[in-house]
Amino acid sequence: MRRLPIFIVADVSESMINHLADVENGIGELISQLNMDPYALETTCLSLIVFAGKSKIIFPLTEVYKVNNSFSLPLGGGTSLGNALSCLMKEIDNNVQKNSPTSKGDWKPIVFLFTDGMPTDNYRSQVQFWKKNYSNKAHLVAISLGEQLDCSILGQLTDDIYLLKTMTASSFKEFFKWVTNSIKTNSVSVSANETNKIYLEEVSDDGPLKRINLKKDVVVKNVQDEFMYIMGKCSQRKKRFLLKYVKNKEGNQYQEVGIYQIPNEELYDELTEDVSIGQTFDTESIESYSDLSCPHCGNQTLFNLCSCGRIFCSDGESYELTCPWCGKTSDYSPADNLIIGSSLG
Ligand SMILES: [Zn+2]
Ligand SMILES: [Zn+2]
Repeated sequence: MRRLPIFIVADVSESMINHLADVENGIGELISQLNMDPYALETTCLSLIVFAGKSKIIFPLTEVYKVNNSFSLPLGGGTSLGNALSCLMKEIDNNVQKNSPTSKGDWKPIVFLFTDGMPTDNYRSQVQFWKKNYSNKAHLVAISLGEQLDCSILGQLTDDIYLLKTMTASSFKEFFKWVTNSIKTNSVSVSANETNKIYLEEVSDDGPLKRINLKKDVVVKNVQDEFMYIMGKCSQRKKRFLLKYVKNKEGNQYQEVGIYQIPNEELYDELTEDVSIGQTFDTESIESYSDLSCPHCGNQTLFNLCSCGRIFCSDGESYELTCPWCGKTSDYSPADNLIIGSSLG
């Protein structure tokens, strides 16, 4: 039986913090839809790879009826496209069956790769390697989630580039419906023994998904650094929180958007390139007003800045505080929602 291998390669960098549930639901729905489709059920096998600074295989290539639908997505720091590609290429080598003298191997794999930000690594050599050795062995469809990413980077990988214009629960739902329908169509065409053409469902102009033609679409938006993320730790429960900021209209300061728990801290470290590096941020660039509180303990002072370069929560009243990151105890002057300590270089 020739299988149709599908790889989903999903960005789980910090900027995905608000959208992990949408992606989880979308993939969950995709799995159950494929299980209800006789053609897909018979031919499709599925793999889910996530990446941030590093990559992780959530499940390897598995027949769709065997895929366990109850997984949860981790979060990580960084967007290493090169690392994601190298993980993908390894998985293709190890799990896609090649033709042998006695039998035909799997159909050409289809990869849906989606990412929401500029790569933070030196991805070029892996992109070149993909182009040279894999672009004829697999169909790669690249989707930019939102407009933070310069689509021409994806254009180095494939001609099939899409843009998800907005990142809302309903647009993610539409997006995964499109992925599901495209997989279904391809499983019908391979069942009819058609050759290696890929069928992607048409997208309508008023829908959330847009097909990008790099020759005629101007898609490079100058929205770099629109969002900023700062990681902190709860001094009570020793767990991490992530603060999200957006640049204000004037473009000179960041305003807070929200504060979030990290879904799985162990996997966060596993998916992050170098966890030991503290962040640098210009304290002047952050609006000092805040009505956020620690998502673990409710403390309202979030910016106790330790000399280790990390921030943590406190009740805003105690003078002597111990940094939950490095264990160092220092004196802090209690001040509500002000950035305390030495500013970072
Ligand atoms: Zn706390
Ligand atoms: Zn510290």
